[in-house]
Amino acid sequence: MAEEEQKQGYYTVIYKRRLYTEYLEYFKLTNQKFNELVLKYYNLLFKYQEFLKESSRNCRTKLENITCINKYGEIPKEYFKCDVPSRFRRSAMMQAIGQAKAYFTNLEKSVDSSKNNKLPSIAKEFNFPTTYYQEMYQYLEDRKIKFKLYNGTDWKWYEAKFSKWDIPENAELLSPKIKVEKKFVLVDIPVRCTVENLTTIKERMEDKNTRVCGVAFSGKNNIATCVVVDINGKFVKTLFISGGDEYKYLTSQAMRKIQRNTHIAKNSNKVKGSNKKYWKKISKYTTHFSHVISRNIVDFCVENEVTIIALSNVRSDKIFLKYSKRFNPATLRDRITNYVRYKAFKENILVTFVDMTEKTDKCYKCGEVMERKIRKQTNKKIIEDKAICKNGHQADYFFNCAMNIALGCLRKYDKKI
Ligand SMILES: [Zn+2]
Repeated sequence: MAEEEQKQGYYTVIYKRRLYTEYLEYFKLTNQKFNELVLKYYNLLFKYQEFLKESSRNCRTKLENITCINKYGEIPKEYFKCDVPSRFRRSAMMQAIGQAKAYFTNLEKSVDSSKNNKLPSIAKEFNFPTTYYQEMYQYLEDRKIKFKLYNGTDWKWYEAKFSKWDIPENAELLSPKIKVEKKFVLVDIPVRCTVENLTTIKERMEDKNTRVCGVAFSGKNNIATCVVVDINGKFVKTLFISGGDEYKYLTSQAMRKIQRNTHIAKNSNKVKGSNKKYWKKISKYTTHFSHVISRNIVDFCVENEVTIIALSNVRSDKIFLKYSKRFNPATLRDRITNYVRYKAFKENILVTFVDMTEKTDKCYKCGEVMERKIRKQTNKKIIEDKAICKNGHQADYFFNCAMNIALGCLRKYDKKI
């Protein structure tokens, strides 16, 4: 979402809920039907690759034109008998288009790159959650919701109830997505809420009471450093948010189990042991930490009457990236950023990104390079957080980053500081 579009005044959050239903079998059948259809359209798109050059919506129209009987009763060339509601078919088409587009993008990437990358594989089957479009679902009173499901012979309406949650005021519930597990059903409900009295960042910059909070991320125990400045760039308050060591400890434990399993599987020619539960664990930790840290950032901003949060467009600490591919703190950082965006927006605080290329390690007072001391500890090099520039300005390295981001935001809007 571009900053300018935020004027529209709403944000969307996805709530994950358990769905209580007596019709588990029907959900399974419907989901099966959905995935069969997705596969059918996916295969068709390989035959009609030129469709994929269009927008997803146009692509869908073209797919409809070649597979569905039109209003004059003409039978198109790729027609197949398909007794599903048209909205359901469209949902499957959109899923297939997304998958086919992703396939060809990956294919292009692997052909372009000089390395001998493996070609992406063509899917043979799918197991996607089913997205219910309008006319396939209806929200009722009292957390009830009805779905049009396939019962093996027919499409009929069936009621279900989702687990409790405090639905925010002025919320609009959108197209639910159903995931069928072996013994239960989960539902993702996107919720759109409106924010009143929304002003743009530009307008806020004209207000002398405006305060900006710069946030710098690090791969250290202090995951996020927040610095609040006033409209003149004067320092107001700072907050260091820790949790990095705990996150690293928890995820690396799960990671070690995964590595051990993979190792055993390799040496005994057995099928790889199930690592699913450990990946799930890692993902759970990432979600948990992202929620807690983003909540801390936003609460701190509310307390200090901040109306703009500034984030950097570059990773403030490249040490990060050497971690494991699937759970490096860069992933955590991206997740926190996403959560901060919607949590802040809920509080009528806007988030903006500041271009910090080649600026993060400069002293915020004079612009000289900030040097960090390197300490040796039994074969290990430890980079200290204390930094100093050649003019003798001392500061915590990440505090300096956050300050640069906050001031960079003011400069972006031509504030003289
Ligand atoms: Zn300096």
